[in-house]
Amino acid sequence: MNVLLTGGLGYIGSHTCVELLNAGHRAVIVDNLCNAYGSVLDYIEQITGIRPRFYEADAQDRAAMERIFSENEIDAVIHFAGLKAVGESCRIPLAYYRNNLDSTLTLLETMEKYGCKRLVFSSSATVYGPDNPVPYNEEMPCHVATNPYGWTKAMIEQIIRDYVTANPDFSAVLLRYFNPVGAHESGLIGDDPNGIPNNLMPYIARVAGGQLEKLTVFGNDYDTPDGTCLRDYLHVVDLAKGHICALDYAAVHTGAEAINLGTGNGVSVLELLHTFIRVNGVDVPYVIGGRRDGDLARCYANAEKAERVLHWKTEKTVEDMCRDSWNFIVKHTK
Ligand code: NAD
Ligand code: UDP
Repeated sequence: MNVLLTGGLGYIGSHTCVELLNAGHRAVIVDNLCNAYGSVLDYIEQITGIRPRFYEADAQDRAAMERIFSENEIDAVIHFAGLKAVGESCRIPLAYYRNNLDSTLTLLETMEKYGCKRLVFSSSATVYGPDNPVPYNEEMPCHVATNPYGWTKAMIEQIIRDYVTANPDFSAVLLRYFNPVGAHESGLIGDDPNGIPNNLMPYIARVAGGQLEKLTVFGNDYDTPDGTCLRDYLHVVDLAKGHICALDYAAVHTGAEAINLGTGNGVSVLELLHTFIRVNGVDVPYVIGGRRDGDLARCYANAEKAERVLHWKTEKTVEDMCRDSWNFIVKHTK
């Protein structure tokens, strides 16, 4: 199958591209490089032996998107392109709404014009909001996001559902990711945020590598076994494989289907930190600080639907996630 990946040079897109090529599919990438490096294309080629066709363009740019669809027979799209930092989305909400919504609308209009009817969308566990109990399942109401980034995901899900209602022969899989971490085992691609990371695993890895002095654990007074927050961390390579299963599903089903991609387990901040220290034999200085605004004590998936519908479940362990995250930093900062 010929698959267009919007945002395909980013963290999750690049790993998914590798798994797509490994599975024998062809990949075309569009990315405006606002949060990625062109060199990722070389790394994808080093890992797979195949260099995907790449367009440096904005997914909001209708002419560019039409050119991509007219030059390639696109069978399906995986839509990763988007801005994703929760804190930043509170500071510059309009940029988040503009980028994330416009790119989706332009993509759907272009898909319609070129008769492409299969879409996999990068949604997020953030759509479950603060009120649902864990573990989250796909039937729960998703009416209240806690930040503009989360709202863009909830709104895009709604836009896609409305489009599918009007076009019943269209197939959309709304993948709700939990907390992707880790890196490809080659150490060539991984999570490489600009500036100081917001997310836990890249922060830990940079403290271990000496680029940051210490980790602040945001609160140890939550109602959880060790007082720190629980999250559903999953290895990015497992997550990437979930997209191939979603494409296969979309090839034989129509309609819009939301599906969680997670392990189903909650892991605490301190568990992740101590696992990282143990498996990598490194020091990660840390202090306990106050709670971070907006953090939920618990966020983990009910992962049954993915197993039932997509025949997908995670295979890698928390140890694998910590080892591969560190391997990426070691190889990357050489
Ligand atoms: P990322 O920032 O590494 O990748 C996104 C890519 O999209 C980047 O390469 C960026 O340059 C590109 N991009 C952004 N806007 C674009 C536009 N208008 N046109 C073309 N390219 C554009 O992020 P990621 O972690 O790989 O996330 C991929 C998707 O998954 C995002 O939609 C994100 O919101 C979603 N998601 C990520 C997480 C996570 O923890 N990483 C969790 C849930 C959902
Ligand atoms: N966290 C932390 N210190 C940091 C970054 C994150 O203690 O420097 C905690 C955060 O409070 C949360 C967990 O790690 O409980 C995961 O945070 P992340 O931002 O990676 O994911 P999210 O909270 O968006 O699920």
